[in-house]
Amino acid sequence: MKPKEQIENLSAYQPGKSMDEVKRQYNLQQVIKLASNENPFGFSPKVKQALMEGLNELHIYPDGANRKLRAALAEKLEVSEDQLIFGMGSDEIISMIARTFLEKGTKTIMATPTFPQYRSNAVTEGATIIEVPLKEGKHDLETMKSEITKETKVIWVCNPNNPSGTFVSEKELVQFLGDVPEDILVVLDEAYYEYATDPTYPNSVKLLDRYPNLIVLRTFSKIYGLAALRIGYGIAKANIIDWLNRVREPFNNTSLSQIAALAALSDQEFIEECKVKNANGLKQLYQGFEKLGLSYYPSQGNFVLVDVNRPAGPIFQKLLERGIIVRSGVALGFPTGLRITVGNSEQNELVLQALEKVLNESV
Ligand SMILES: *Cc1c(COP(=O)(O)O)cnc(C)c1O
Repeated sequence: MKPKEQIENLSAYQPGKSMDEVKRQYNLQQVIKLASNENPFGFSPKVKQALMEGLNELHIYPDGANRKLRAALAEKLEVSEDQLIFGMGSDEIISMIARTFLEKGTKTIMATPTFPQYRSNAVTEGATIIEVPLKEGKHDLETMKSEITKETKVIWVCNPNNPSGTFVSEKELVQFLGDVPEDILVVLDEAYYEYATDPTYPNSVKLLDRYPNLIVLRTFSKIYGLAALRIGYGIAKANIIDWLNRVREPFNNTSLSQIAALAALSDQEFIEECKVKNANGLKQLYQGFEKLGLSYYPSQGNFVLVDVNRPAGPIFQKLLERGIIVRSGVALGFPTGLRITVGNSEQNELVLQALEKVLNESV
């Protein structure tokens, strides 16, 4: 037996260590995980109540059309219901896009480093991948544009970019979209949209009317705090959604994920609170980094990439031994970086203290 040629060179996603594993391995009482950009404030209390009610119907298939959530989200976003597609996390929508538009002989353009799922799905479909290095930590849209050929089918823009946290402004985005031919799909991955505070961050849904080749991806995994339930969505012109729907699994969202997302959506107060706390947490981390003489990319997400000025592997390991799990930049394309999720203020303080100790030990 042999898999498709391109699968042979693909490696499986490496999940980070779980909190339990780290506790056991280093004999620790307390472990903090700031590695996967999860919401340190959990999720809206309304979700739990709604889920309890949903537990009575586990024997019934979910609504494959996601009707209630679709209606609520369409109203909130001021788009029509046929402009929405739901996935098992936005990860699944990335995979649906690749399945729908990419194959051998096609090309796809993305930044590097960026979110790794664009690449792995494109590889799976046999497409040729054009990776354009970030410029000063940001998407280099000019160079990305210059890489367009007649084989180009999809361009990925991660905004804010994971792992750098940097963003493309509305003005930059509009200029880019204006120059990309309309037969190329532009994927704008806004997994951290709700966290963005910069006034020049794009209002992308409003651009859908003007740019029919745009799809915006968002998720309930990050600020909504529902990562465990796997639900995300895409917003685009109805014809794009229609194509994606043809490759979608019929029941790709569980009933519980639909119920939870609907309840979470109804509690915008919780989201606003998380946004404010995250902005304060970012400030707290920035100040701490500055005290330690470390540079970082200002972030529009709930994570920040800090440069520790030396190989990040050993620093990551020493933090781990102290019970602090972050993401080493080594695997993310920033060999001297750590990507740290913004925690609550106590967690942020603990990370900064541990980082100071570990850096002092390793000079
Ligand atoms: C977390 C993340 C996603 C995917 O999240 P899902 O849990 O699959 O919705 C997509 N894009 C980026 C940039 C992310 O950081």
